[in-house]
Amino acid sequence: MQADADRRITEADILIIGNGALGLFAAEALASRAPTRKIAVVGPADREAGASQAAGAMLGCFGEVTTDTLRTDAGRQRFGIGVEAHKLWDKTIARLQEFAPSGSSLKVSSDTYVVLNSIGHVLDSHNFKAIIAALNEYQQPWSEADPDTIVGFNPRPDCRAFGCIRLHDEGAIDARAVLSALEKKLKYEGIHLVDHSVRKIITQQGTATGVELQDGWTIEASTVVLAAGAQSEALLSTASTDINLMPTFPGLGLGMLARRSRGSAFDSVVRTPNRGFGCGLHVVPQGNNREYLGSTNRVVHQVMNVSWLEDLRYLSKYSMQQLDENIAHHQVEHWLRGNRPITFDGFPLVGWLPIPGLYLMTGTFRDGYHGAPLLATHVADEIEGKPGPLGAIVKPTRSAIVTRTVDESIEEYAQHSIATWYEVGSDSCEMPTRTLEEFYRDRARRIYDELELGYGIGPDVLWYAFGDQAGAQHIRTYLSAA
Ligand SMILES: Cc1cc2nc3c(=O)[nH]c(=O)nc-3n(C[C@H](O)[C@H](O)[C@H](O)COP(=O)(O)OP(=O)(O)OC[C@H]3O[C@@H](n4cnc5c(N)ncnc54)[C@H](O)[C@@H]3O)c2cc1C
Repeated sequence: MQADADRRITEADILIIGNGALGLFAAEALASRAPTRKIAVVGPADREAGASQAAGAMLGCFGEVTTDTLRTDAGRQRFGIGVEAHKLWDKTIARLQEFAPSGSSLKVSSDTYVVLNSIGHVLDSHNFKAIIAALNEYQQPWSEADPDTIVGFNPRPDCRAFGCIRLHDEGAIDARAVLSALEKKLKYEGIHLVDHSVRKIITQQGTATGVELQDGWTIEASTVVLAAGAQSEALLSTASTDINLMPTFPGLGLGMLARRSRGSAFDSVVRTPNRGFGCGLHVVPQGNNREYLGSTNRVVHQVMNVSWLEDLRYLSKYSMQQLDENIAHHQVEHWLRGNRPITFDGFPLVGWLPIPGLYLMTGTFRDGYHGAPLLATHVADEIEGKPGPLGAIVKPTRSAIVTRTVDESIEEYAQHSIATWYEVGSDSCEMPTRTLEEFYRDRARRIYDELELGYGIGPDVLWYAFGDQAGAQHIRTYLSAA
C-alpha cells in the first residue's frame, strides 16, 4: 500500500469514500471553505474499474444533447446543471495547471466537431438536429463545418460525413492528468489520501461515525461522503439495508489510449451524436501524437474490470472506419475500462441520506467528469448547511423522476436498438427495417408487462432489465418497495 503513514490516521472531520473525479473535487471544494478541517479521501490508487480514470473527459454539454434532453422540465433542469458546470472549467484548469504532471497540458482541446455520418440510423439525424436547436436556444457559438477541413478526420468513403458542426466552446481535458494534478494539490493542502478500500461504513445508533477499511483499520469521522461511483450502492448497504434508494447500475465502458504512427493527429474532439444506448463514437487528442478513442456502454449487474470482445471490435473497427483509416496503425498503450454510475431514472443522486452524517454523490452516468466541479460546490454548500446550486432534483431520497410515457420509452428503445443494428453492420435482406422496429417494440412491451411499470424508463436501463435476470429482479425489488 502507498504510504503506511497515511493509513495511520484514525480520525477526520470529513471522510470521502472514493477517489474519482467526484471525490477529489469534493475534497478540494471542502478544503477551500475551511482550510483547518481535517479531510481524508479513501480510494485505491489504481482506481481499478473506476469511471473517471477511463473517461475521454470531453467537456461535453451541447454535444451530449439528444431529442430527449430538453423535452421535459426535469430534463431542462438536468441540462441546466451541465450548462452551469461548463462555466467553471476555465477557472478549474487554471487552478490545477501548476500541479499537472510535468509538460502536460490539462486542456487537450478547445473545440468539438460533431459529424453526422452514413453509418447510424435516423436517431443520429434527430439527435444532430436536437444539438443545433439547443445551441440556438441557448445562444451558444457554433458553425457549420466542412468535414474535409477537420485535421485528422479521414473516414472510409462509405462512412463519410454528410453534415458537420463545430462547437467553438466545447473541448476536452486530459482525464488522467487532471486526477493526478488534483491529488498533488490535495496533498499540498494537507488532505490525507489513503490508498485503500472501504469495507464498510460504521454507524452508531443510526448515525454514520466512520469507516472500516478492507484490512480492519478504522477511521472515525463526523461526516462521511460516499462518492465511490458505481460501488456506492453496495457500500451504502453496509450502513443500512432499510433505505429504498433508487437503484444504480454500472455502465461498463471501454476506451483506448493509443499512439499514432501514420497520418495527421486530431487537434479537436471529433464525435458522432449520442447513439445506440450510449455515447457516440469519439476521438479526444491527448498531445504528443497520442489519442483517446471511445467509447462503449454496456449496463451490467456488477462492477466489472473486463472487456467484451465485441466492444473491443466495436471501438477498433468503427474508429478506423468512421474517424480515420490510419487508426489501423495506432499502437494501443492502454485499454481503459470504467463503470459509469447510471441511476434508474438517469438523474444524479447528490445529497444527505436518511442516516445522519452520511452524504451521497453519484449517479452521474456519461458526463460526470464535466459536472464534477459544480457537484463539488453543491456538496460543500450543503455540508455547510446552505442550499447548493443543483436544487432538489438531485436529492437521493426523491422518487424516480418521470420523463417519458411507456409508449415513448418503447419507441425510444426500438430506435436505439435499430440504430445499433445498423451501426454494427447487421444485415437481413428478408426483414425490412419496419419489421425489425416492430420486433423491438414487441420486446419492449413484454418488458413493461413483466415489470408492471406505469411510466417509461431510459432505453439503456430497459435493455438491461430484459437482458439480465438479476438486474430485472433488482429493479422489481425497488419498484415494489417504492
Ligand atoms: C469509458 C468512459 C468514458 C467517459 N467519458 C466521459 C466524458 O467524455 N465526459 C464526462 O464528463 N464523463 C465521462 N464519463 C463519465 C464519468 O467518467 C463519470 O460520470 C464520472 O467520472 C464518475 O465519477 P465518480 O467519481 O462518481 O466515480 P469513479 O470515477 O468511478 O470513482 C469512484 C472511485 O471510488 C473508488 N472506490 C470504489 N470502491 C471503493 C471502496 N470500497 N473504498 C474506497 N474507494 C472505492 C474507485 O476506485 C474509484 O476510483 C465516461 C466514463 C467512462 C467509463
